Amino acid sequence: MRHWKLILLGLAVIGAGYLLHRYLPSQHNPFRAPDLTEPIGLATYGKLTDLKYEAALCKEKRIEAGVEFTVLAADGAESSCPLQETLSLKKSLTPYNAAPLRMTCHQMAALHVWERQVLRPQAEKIFGSPLRQIETYGSFSCRNIAGTRTRSQHSYANAIDISGFVLEDGRRISVKDHWRERSDFGRYLAKAHKGSCRLFSVTLGPDYNTAHADHFHVDMGSAETCK
Ligand SMILES: [Zn+2]
Repeated sequence: MRHWKLILLGLAVIGAGYLLHRYLPSQHNPFRAPDLTEPIGLATYGKLTDLKYEAALCKEKRIEAGVEFTVLAADGAESSCPLQETLSLKKSLTPYNAAPLRMTCHQMAALHVWERQVLRPQAEKIFGSPLRQIETYGSFSCRNIAGTRTRSQHSYANAIDISGFVLEDGRRISVKDHWRERSDFGRYLAKAHKGSCRLFSVTLGPDYNTAHADHFHVDMGSAETCK
C-alpha cells in the first residue's frame, strides 16, 4: 500500500512539473531557450549569462531579434588584449553615436534587451517620445580599471559605457547632468539604471565613484554589482 502512495506522489510531482514547464511564461522559465524579444522575467538574467557558453545559440537569438552584426574572429590585434570571437554591431533598434562597437555576443544580447525592454519603452512612457540615439563612450578598450592593475571588462569587449540618451524631439538626457535630479530626466535615468541591474552582471553609475560620474558602466563579467 505504501508503494502506491509513493507512486502517486511521484506522478503528482511529475505532473506539477510538466504543467509548470508548459504554462510558466518563458521569461520566468529557466528551462526554455532564451528569447531576446520577450519581457524581462525571473529567468532572464540567468539565460543571458548562459549565452556566454552558447556562442551559436547567442548569434541565432540576436538575428531573430532583428539585430545586425558582423562576426570578428578571435585575434590578438592588441597583443596585450587578445580577444575570443566577438561581434561588431551594425544595426540595433536604436542607433548609437559611436561605431564600431565591438562586444562579446552575450554582452550585446543583454544590451539589446535593455534597449528593447527598458530604454525605449521608458522614453515613450515618461516623455511621450521615441528614443532617437544612445550615447556611448565605447565598448572594447585595452586597458585596466582606472587606478588598478586589474584588467577592465572593456579589455575583453565585455562592457560598454553609456553617457546619455537623445529623444526623437531633440531633448537630451545626460548621466552627468541629470543623475538624481528630481525631474523626468532624473526619473528616466533611475529607471534605466534599475533595469540594467536586472540584465547585466555589473552596473556602475555616479553613486559608485567619481570615475563614473558621467556614465553608466555595464558589463557581463564574473563579478555581480549594482551601484
Ligand atoms: Zn566602463
